[in-house]
Amino acid sequence: MSWNDRQVQMLRAMGLRLWLPSPEPSPEPSPEPALAPSSHPEPEPGPDAPGRGEALAPALAARGRPVPPTRPTTAPVAAPTVLQPAAAADAGALDWTALRQAVAGCRACGLCESRTQTVFGTGHLQAHWLIVGEAPGAEEDKRGEPFVGASGQLLDTMLQTLGLSRDADGDPAKRAYIANTLKCRPPSNRNPLPAELQQCAPFLQRQIELLQPRIILAMGRYAAQALLRTDAPLGQLRGQVHRMGGRPVVVTYHPSYLLRSPGEKAKAWADLCLAASTLEALPP
Ligand code: SF4
Repeated sequence: MSWNDRQVQMLRAMGLRLWLPSPEPSPEPSPEPALAPSSHPEPEPGPDAPGRGEALAPALAARGRPVPPTRPTTAPVAAPTVLQPAAAADAGALDWTALRQAVAGCRACGLCESRTQTVFGTGHLQAHWLIVGEAPGAEEDKRGEPFVGASGQLLDTMLQTLGLSRDADGDPAKRAYIANTLKCRPPSNRNPLPAELQQCAPFLQRQIELLQPRIILAMGRYAAQALLRTDAPLGQLRGQVHRMGGRPVVVTYHPSYLLRSPGEKAKAWADLCLAASTLEALPP
């Protein structure tokens, strides 16, 4: 992989010193943080939820039917924990349009009570790259699109450095589809709960089946752990190529974390280079 002037400018825009990234992926043997810091769009108070690994259990448990995307007209006394079932388990048969509708009407977990709207995903429907984030933040919840605001700008810069964009048309090889593991914003941007991740997993799974990406880039701890069905810390998951149904998965930091910890951008760039070189090595 070689870099043109525009890509060099992009690297500078990421805040990288140009001698740090190398087009040849050079795995970093050990100096990873013991536990990856939060990669949620905003600071995450409190420790990890206990039993987080349970969220990675098979997510296709049977559920009921969808309900229309209406919000209660009567003011709830308290946030209910038992809600009308959703169509997540039925997602495996849906096309893009029906899947989007099912997500919009989903009430499978309590996040439906506090969301402004669901955040389905955006990008080219045949993109070779799939970028998976964690959960919508406040701005995403407001706009209904993943990775907006400052973290979205940084992600776009990272993608542009690789010659990629989230445009919905154009060459699929130069396009990325962007989605989150959770389609609804956790209140106050708290960490996702295991049950929420499990309830929502079939939607992302169906997005992957429909998109058939050539490579997946998991950004942030919860995205990586949910996709790879592990509770290993992000620092252990970076720097290697994982497989999900034979498809390569590379793990890196969430852009919001990179905004808080710009010193880690070089590692993120190494991850992007690993993903790019992995994709280049795949057979046509
Ligand atoms: S987070 Fe997922 S499972 Fe929960 S209500 Fe939203 S779409 Fe449904």
